[in-house]
Amino acid sequence: MSEFAFELELCARLESRRAGIVARQLGASVADPGGRILDVVCLEPGPEFDDRVALTSESIPDAAIESAVGTGRARYWKDAFDCHPERARSATDRSLEIGFFERDHGTSADAGRDYVRQVARYPDWYGRIVGIENKPDLGRPGDLEVQLRTDASLAVVDEAILATESYVTRAHLNRIPEEIGVWRIHRDEDATEIEIEVVRDPTTLPVDEPGIEPLEYHPGRTEIAVVDADAKARARRRLAERAYGKGWRAYDFPGCGACRADDSSGATLPRCDWKGRVVDAATECGPSCPGHESATAPAERDDLEAERERRTPWQANPAGKRRRQTGLDRFG
Ligand code: SF4
Repeated sequence: MSEFAFELELCARLESRRAGIVARQLGASVADPGGRILDVVCLEPGPEFDDRVALTSESIPDAAIESAVGTGRARYWKDAFDCHPERARSATDRSLEIGFFERDHGTSADAGRDYVRQVARYPDWYGRIVGIENKPDLGRPGDLEVQLRTDASLAVVDEAILATESYVTRAHLNRIPEEIGVWRIHRDEDATEIEIEVVRDPTTLPVDEPGIEPLEYHPGRTEIAVVDADAKARARRRLAERAYGKGWRAYDFPGCGACRADDSSGATLPRCDWKGRVVDAATECGPSCPGHESATAPAERDDLEAERERRTPWQANPAGKRRRQTGLDRFG
């Protein structure tokens, strides 16, 4: 089983059974950005989840959330950020584009520079965050132990889980930090449906306390960074925002007659009849593949976005965005 196929099938299964947001391939380290990428992230809805859905379909830039741009009086954008002007400008432009900020046209025209405000207060929208590391074959563990030790000691997510298709032995469990939950994935005979067997429940991690992020391992010593609780809270918010904007359907369908858009799991996946499994078009497909037959791709990104909207609370064009677009039309 390829890790890519395993990951998509697990995401489809989680989306069908859990409320909130499922996403994949997101950074979850703090001191070393990009040092730890989580395969799958599940966000449970918080008290103001609906307000976040209504705000925008996209990820809101962290600098914009942290800025002093509020919902009341419009402010000159440059005065409202405590970061490099280029980052501030980029966050302002993106926030205007996605409908998190709106421009005060009258004040901006009078002053000859942009005055902006938030269209709504940033909501308290996510609850528990679960990170899942996929390792279909425990016989080829790669950096698995290091990755899971990082998740347990840094504790950016509330729960960390290992998902595998392998039989999990006592020796495996002893090598994995005891806080990490373990799922074994079973599939039915025609390999389209999967079931999750909980081998070990995860322990709730101390997300509100400082964490330890391992940076580099040397013989006999490990370089670490101590990450304070505020930095972790910001990392959690960035993770939640990226998860909301990105989801898990960031994949393409190959232009190959052997691939079909398989929705037997409820979500549409690129299943190759020649390989007998879900394929990653970006890395596995093309004319050099012996099974390749040139054809039109059986589904497009837009189809996947429409499916995300149908199957999850996420909205592609929420009310907040429509309000902003009407406003733009009106002011030209
Ligand atoms: S290019 Fe090869 S792997 Fe990709 S869908 Fe076609 S036959 Fe399958």
